[in-house]
Amino acid sequence: MSEHDSEYMGAVLLQKGYLSTEEESQADIILVNTCCVREKVEHKIFTKLGRLTKLKRQNKKLIIGVTGCYAQLAKEEIKRRMPQVDFVLGAQEIRRLPKVMGSLRSPQKRQDKMPDESRQVEGFPCGFRRRSSIQAMVTIMEGCNNFCAYCIVPFARGRERSRASEEILREIKEAAAEAYKEVLLLGQNVNSYCDPSNNSISFADLLIKVHQIEGIERIRYVTSHPKDFSFRLVETIRDYPKICRHVHLPVQSGSTRILKLMNRKYSRDEYMEKIEWLKREIPEIGISTDIIVGFPEEIEDDFKQTMSLLEEVEFDGIYSFKYSPRPLTKAYQYPDTVSEEVKGSRLMELQALQKRIQLAKNQSLVGRVVEILVDSVSKKDPHALCGRTSSNRIVNFKGSPDLMGKFLRVKIIRSGPNSLFGERV
Ligand code: SF4
Repeated sequence: MSEHDSEYMGAVLLQKGYLSTEEESQADIILVNTCCVREKVEHKIFTKLGRLTKLKRQNKKLIIGVTGCYAQLAKEEIKRRMPQVDFVLGAQEIRRLPKVMGSLRSPQKRQDKMPDESRQVEGFPCGFRRRSSIQAMVTIMEGCNNFCAYCIVPFARGRERSRASEEILREIKEAAAEAYKEVLLLGQNVNSYCDPSNNSISFADLLIKVHQIEGIERIRYVTSHPKDFSFRLVETIRDYPKICRHVHLPVQSGSTRILKLMNRKYSRDEYMEKIEWLKREIPEIGISTDIIVGFPEEIEDDFKQTMSLLEEVEFDGIYSFKYSPRPLTKAYQYPDTVSEEVKGSRLMELQALQKRIQLAKNQSLVGRVVEILVDSVSKKDPHALCGRTSSNRIVNFKGSPDLMGKFLRVKIIRSGPNSLFGERV
């Protein structure tokens, strides 16, 4: 979501006649888009702003803006500690950037009103460059009503607001006309999408409507909440081939006791039931998840349950983190009972297990032919390209840049824990 906000702000600047540069020293305006999901972000942000204000001393015309989730929560502190910053725009106010740009030359007109939560979620301005030329990110909803005990997002992003399906479809049609082949539908909890102009349109209905758009070949979405993940959605994925065979379904813990403390509103068994639906109805499905280790009160037995869940599900990928307390959240009041040392060793144990699972799963694909959409140049080898399967597996192969954006069939010849290596067939 933050990445897409950056993309939006980049488009606004281009619209205003700015050009992009890789060199901070050449910039006329620098926006620092911040995140606050994890701890220790504050130090990073202020170090960065400190460096930028030195640049501002050399170039008095430089405009510095701070945007995003941290800006939403710590507006006054940023202004107090960094008076050289020209404006601060929280995550819920980013769509006001064009207005702010109009008053930038009058620093006294800083935009510091509180956000208007009733505003609609807006899309990407038509005709402007997105970061990727292959995948178009499209916001379908913003904010969250779930208040998981560890999560700061509802405070930073506000309450859930869905965007009208008509607008979403218009934006996707525009992207298809610009030759985008893949869309990534974004929302904090896409499964609870509900069209504000027609309440009968759910997320599954929206997926079917997107499926009808000519030119769009792949549909992805993040993030799903297990409590709202319905069997109807599983059937929709099964029956509509452009919907990618990949689901990111954050479990967070394998222990029902910890899930309750986390306020996740599902049990281990309920989560496992949804995994079973997916595997039974769509055998080729790729499933990934998020895990937090060391949540307050997590004892060895809870952690073992998380480990056993990993073994049972055999995820294709996980994002795993040590619990870090965030101000404003419910868990911030819980005593942080698990020591840093234990958190660290649990995380290492978990990641080692997952690495073994991924290695074995990827190894079983060697010799198979898969279809990929080529989307990038390999970070390790400039002569190699990367593509993704519908199930979100990354495949590296030798090829020239003119293959970018094409669908190819490749035979898997080698595998590692995080990626596959193939050759064109
Ligand atoms: S569902 Fe929970 S973890 Fe996800 S954004 Fe909402 S509060 Fe945070």
